[in-house]
Amino acid sequence: MDILIKNTTIVTMSNENEIIQDGFVVISGDRIAYVGEAEPEGFSYDRIIDGRNKAVLPGLMNMHTHSPMVLVRGYADDMCLQDWLFNKIFPVEAQLAPEDVYWGSTYAIMEMLRSGITSFADMYFYVNEVARAVNLSGMRACLCTGIQNGDKIGRPEKNSYLAENRRLYDEWNGRADGRISVYMGPHSVYMCEPELLYYISDLAHQLGTGIHIHVSETIKENLDCIKRYGKSPVALLDEIGLLGPKTIAAHCVHVSEEDMNILKDRGVSVAYNPTSNLKLGSGLAPIKRLLQKGINLALGTDGASSNNNLNIFEEMHLAALISKGAELDSTCVDAFEAVSMATTNGAKALGKIIMENREFNTIDSEQAIYNIKRIAARLGR
Ligand SMILES: [Zn+2]
Repeated sequence: MDILIKNTTIVTMSNENEIIQDGFVVISGDRIAYVGEAEPEGFSYDRIIDGRNKAVLPGLMNMHTHSPMVLVRGYADDMCLQDWLFNKIFPVEAQLAPEDVYWGSTYAIMEMLRSGITSFADMYFYVNEVARAVNLSGMRACLCTGIQNGDKIGRPEKNSYLAENRRLYDEWNGRADGRISVYMGPHSVYMCEPELLYYISDLAHQLGTGIHIHVSETIKENLDCIKRYGKSPVALLDEIGLLGPKTIAAHCVHVSEEDMNILKDRGVSVAYNPTSNLKLGSGLAPIKRLLQKGINLALGTDGASSNNNLNIFEEMHLAALISKGAELDSTCVDAFEAVSMATTNGAKALGKIIMENREFNTIDSEQAIYNIKRIAARLGR
């Protein structure tokens, strides 16, 4: 089945500022078969769309969300992260059944598709149900279970969240015509003891898969981490071997120069969630410095409950405006950069576009090998 979009403005994102006016796009089956200025030949169209006064651009990528949280949209407003999460969200989420997660995720997928999102990185529980929804929808998704300590603290091998994430990997990684990938999802340094993080790091290395984690979202997270471990969340995660080109670090609102250097050196992608950071009063991420360092910066909505929608156009809008205002610099996050964050940078985060000079695999440095050996010794293996 071939579809033609004609007479349209095409923002290819393949070269800086390349925009084709009055161009043509052909979709053949599930592939983009042609993009160009001249009308192509050799196709037989089942459908022709007149794209006049419209623009075609790559699918938007929501690189940090918790899709079933549309069910708790608007449930708790005007609260800081810790109060919102521990006193409102976690108790109500504990009431959800697997079927609720399926329908919540299905609803979220429809909402994302409506605003042009074709891929998302999701962290939740009962994620088998999210995978079912993704499979039926045709979307692309990077899924993980939000792993936290649970009631078996200190016994990672008995952690039910970790077991669910492992099952999810075995059942769904590479499935749905390759549209689903499964990462490991340690929630954060404040929800996971180091021993659990070591265990997750070890498993991710064995499986060759990536990591999706919340990092330095609030000042409290940083202060608590420094108090307990004597180092920042980024430094702690690096020591544990959880940072690499296949790591999506959500937020990074409060990262130091040293933290940013580590993120850059390890090839970590940062998922920036401006609306969520504003709504929860978490702060303004140092976007200008992150970009100057050359760190891959993608966009996320976070869950609908801390947003309250799943619209990457809104995130682009805020990402550009906040940085200009906060930095007193109208050139900060220009239009091309904002659209890159919403499209190609998300693709780089998931390894769909390979970053320059950067193998897309798990950490391969000597430090990581040393860390893995240490993990094994620590776990008595
Ligand atoms: Zn989140």
